[in-house]
Amino acid sequence: MRRRTLLATSIATSIATLLAGAAATAEPAPISIVAAENFYADIAGQIGGPGVAVTAILSNPDEDPHLFEASPSVARAIAGAAIVIANGLGYDDWMGKLLAARGAAQPKSIVVADLLGRKAGANPHLWYAPATMPAVAEALATALTAIDQAHAADYAARLQAFQDSMAPLQARVAALHKRFAGLPITATEPVFGEMAAALGLVVRNVRFQLSVMNDTEPAASDIAAFEADLRHHRVHLLIYNVQATNTAAQRMQRLAKESGIPILGVSETEPAGTTYQRWMLETLAALETALAVAR
Ligand SMILES: [Zn+2]
Repeated sequence: MRRRTLLATSIATSIATLLAGAAATAEPAPISIVAAENFYADIAGQIGGPGVAVTAILSNPDEDPHLFEASPSVARAIAGAAIVIANGLGYDDWMGKLLAARGAAQPKSIVVADLLGRKAGANPHLWYAPATMPAVAEALATALTAIDQAHAADYAARLQAFQDSMAPLQARVAALHKRFAGLPITATEPVFGEMAAALGLVVRNVRFQLSVMNDTEPAASDIAAFEADLRHHRVHLLIYNVQATNTAAQRMQRLAKESGIPILGVSETEPAGTTYQRWMLETLAALETALAVAR
């Protein structure tokens, strides 16, 4: 009898010790953010800081995001998210389907195309527009603050730091615009289109690019126009998407090389081990080198 009491007491003490320990070290569960693309996940991490757990769905540099199909693990991640970020414009329609599966229990949802007021048919590669990430960062800070009022000042400080960190990129865009605006270039896929527009570059062969983006064969007339641009040196640069290519695109790359037109490969998703800011600055540095050779 006595022994049983002692045992019960010692168990009760252990539980009390455990509870006290847990209370002392308890951290609130991180806010789960799921971004359809890894560049939006990067911004979510920069704004959310240590209090968020961010999952990126599209990040494989060897995959064409336009051809992505969601797996059950993606569905599970979205089912548990407090905030989701999608690009929109048909780039990640699978996201909407998985969100619909949650029924009435919807997370806070940021659709970047809606944020920027882009309509169906617009170039979906919105993250190459210099104005996109500042807007995404602001939407994230608002969503996080609504969920976690206690850390409102932290989110505001990180938002400010992020906006400040975009200044070198914006300065670079302005400098390159001054130097290269009006220069005709071409591309095999429209991934860089938004940045090219911000730089004032004149991008030719848009219909060809849409065919490659949509994984269809470009029309013979579009191929002929592209080839003529390269052969007759009507463009100063050919940009190709390292993640979305087809035989027609590869042929244009070969022809550009034969014709002595500089070639620049850009990626659809953010490379591993960098930040959005660094990625864009490095891409612009490579563009500047290529265009300087061309002039
Ligand atoms: Zn693309």
